[in-house]
Amino acid sequence: MQVKTQGLIIKEQTIGESDRLVTILTKDAGVLRAFARKAKSLKDSKSAATQLLCYSRLSVFKGREKYIIDDAEPIEVFFGLRRDIAALSLAQYFCELAYLMVPEETESEEYLRLVLNSLHFLANGTRPLRMLQSVTELRMLCTAGYMPNLIACSDCVAYESDVMYFLPDSGILLCKDCFHGANEPYIPLPPGVLTAMRHIVYSDFSKLYSFSLPEEALKILNTATESYVRRTLHTLPKTLEFYKTFLD
Ligand SMILES: [Zn+2]
Repeated sequence: MQVKTQGLIIKEQTIGESDRLVTILTKDAGVLRAFARKAKSLKDSKSAATQLLCYSRLSVFKGREKYIIDDAEPIEVFFGLRRDIAALSLAQYFCELAYLMVPEETESEEYLRLVLNSLHFLANGTRPLRMLQSVTELRMLCTAGYMPNLIACSDCVAYESDVMYFLPDSGILLCKDCFHGANEPYIPLPPGVLTAMRHIVYSDFSKLYSFSLPEEALKILNTATESYVRRTLHTLPKTLEFYKTFLD
């Protein structure tokens, strides 16, 4: 059976002399793994289109046991990512997040749109890395069904206080009057950081990337969203640890 789709290559592995096994975040079939035969030979048009971080139009043959890429044509190669090792490693972290979170054979357009938009801003250098990290982490977790409850304090329903405490294990907020220490990790959130988190969770996609925070606040935002990733995946992805070695 022949499947035509579009997708981002989120993982690649060389098999033998010239074949590639790639993992693709597709628009409409979740994450799938497919072979690209002779993808390393230079004359083959599939070569560029099946490289890591390439967004491509794909024609895939679905055999009984595996998928084979018949044809691939690059749509966007995110060339700008190759100029900056920090941006490139953050991009690889986004790929690993998608790899870990997106199921197979599922409607996956929302995930793809999120990752492609984040890569676009990363490649152009038009948003801070720290902002793109938290937006991608938290929004992807929400898409995957792990939406935290950031509407109000989970005890007294206060909407805000000088500081609100985010408890990633429970995915809830407590205000300063209701918080009396906790047996689980917690992150104190100044109002600006909480507003940004609410924005990432609840805003329309079209407005997702339109907010700004000072560097110090972005660091707190990163701590909060990373801890929520750790709590959900029960580990911190290796690509995140690698990316963080490039941060000040
Ligand atoms: Zn409260």
